[in-house]
Amino acid sequence: METKRQEIITQCDNQKSKLDETKPLNILIDEAYKIFKKYIDDDTLIFKNKKIFFNIKMNKYSFREQGFEHIITKDFGKTSIPLYDKNRVIHLPIIEKIIKQCCNNKCSELKVFKDKKDICIWCKRIDFLIILSERNNGYLLKTAYPVVYTHKRQSLKRKANENDLLL
Ligand SMILES: [Zn+2]
Repeated sequence: METKRQEIITQCDNQKSKLDETKPLNILIDEAYKIFKKYIDDDTLIFKNKKIFFNIKMNKYSFREQGFEHIITKDFGKTSIPLYDKNRVIHLPIIEKIIKQCCNNKCSELKVFKDKKDICIWCKRIDFLIILSERNNGYLLKTAYPVVYTHKRQSLKRKANENDLLL
């Protein structure tokens, strides 16, 4: 009976929380943005007893918070023209799932480790990475994205083994 319960806890359903990728990108960005605003307003994302907060400086082109723009943009580089990435947009609800469920339940699919000064939270099941930076008043969520490249996955695996942090 005890084993059965354990199985249910470690069975994470992050995959199901994605937004519907068949919808057009602009609709999905609106949906994701509403969720992001809720993260800020509700203020209930907690990691290791400290609040997670976001960069709420407004992007002068989109009039949305930089923290949001970073999450949904691929290769936010030198150009000021953002390249919005549908795959990143549809994954936005998973941030809350991982922080509230996987972290609290010590999900077996989760790896938490340090990468230089950053804290990485990696859900191996769906290959999603959350990057936090510790500050005096909590953790700044720098970015969060689905891992799509094999070399990135390999480097995460290596760092996770070297710098494993217990939840
Ligand atoms: Zn999980």
